[in-house]
Amino acid sequence: MFDTLSDRLTSVLTNLRGKGRLSEADIDATAREIRIALLEADVALPVVRGFIKGVKERAKGAEVSQALNPAQQVVKIVNEELIGILGGETRRLELAKNPPSVIMLAGLQGSGKTTLAGKLAKWLSGQGHTPLLVACDLQRPNAVNQLQVVGERAGVPVYAPEPGNGVGDPVQVSRDSIDEAKRAQHDIVIVDTAGRLGVDEEMMKQAADIRDAISPDEVLFVLDAMIGQDAVTTAEAFRDGVGFSGVVLTKLDGDARGGAALSVREVTGQPIMFASSGEKLEDFDVFHPDRMANRILG
Ligand code: GDP
Repeated sequence: MFDTLSDRLTSVLTNLRGKGRLSEADIDATAREIRIALLEADVALPVVRGFIKGVKERAKGAEVSQALNPAQQVVKIVNEELIGILGGETRRLELAKNPPSVIMLAGLQGSGKTTLAGKLAKWLSGQGHTPLLVACDLQRPNAVNQLQVVGERAGVPVYAPEPGNGVGDPVQVSRDSIDEAKRAQHDIVIVDTAGRLGVDEEMMKQAADIRDAISPDEVLFVLDAMIGQDAVTTAEAFRDGVGFSGVVLTKLDGDARGGAALSVREVTGQPIMFASSGEKLEDFDVFHPDRMANRILG
């Protein structure tokens, strides 16, 4: 996903190699090139501005280091600033002291929520948890079925309204699922909610009603990194309409520019917690800002 950005940044930084000392003009020119690379990758403008300011200030004020030459010093600064915009530390799931913990997923239709529900459930099972998947996307005719398929692949049970019971009330289903989890001793409940192709008020209201009904420990906003510039506005809409405590980036295996998704931490203030990079249940990992920064810097 970040190949072009990675190539650009690597080549900008490689140009500094061999310079004994960096003048202010060298630093300004480098900062300009980095700025262009980030903007071309779709990183949001305010995020780019903050990034460049940080790099310039730190590069100009850098102590003469015995261990690193000037080029290496700039690479180190850029790396640290990248880690900074990606959230710094890895943020782990915060589970409830008294189970079941409740994790609610929110995001646009097609963002990869249902797939992610299965990935998360499998990953949590692997750590000794006993999750229950809950189908609260009762809008799309096939959504419940799709979650059941995913649940089967993940080896995790799915709580869903009985077929034939009409459309069902997703808020009631979410509430009932907590009772079911207590009864069957599931320590984590993962609630899949309905999305639309675009942000709309009714969808936000339904997600907010589910949130109010089940008081989740975590609301994860699932964001398709392929949607480009729309990533930022979509994230803002979900932040304002539902609120979330963490972000999951999906489709990082795609070849879109993806920089907008890299802006989501800075724009919303909430951490990127997981990354999905393929359709298989195994294509999933905890998001590590430092590893992502290293990957981008090649
Ligand atoms: P939902 O509507 O938000 O529940 O999205 P789905 O889970 O149904 O995913 C929509 C499509 O994206 C499906 O075809 C998934 O197989 C695909 N998908 C989900 N996550 C990823 C991913 O990380 N990479 C790729 N390439 N495809 C994904």
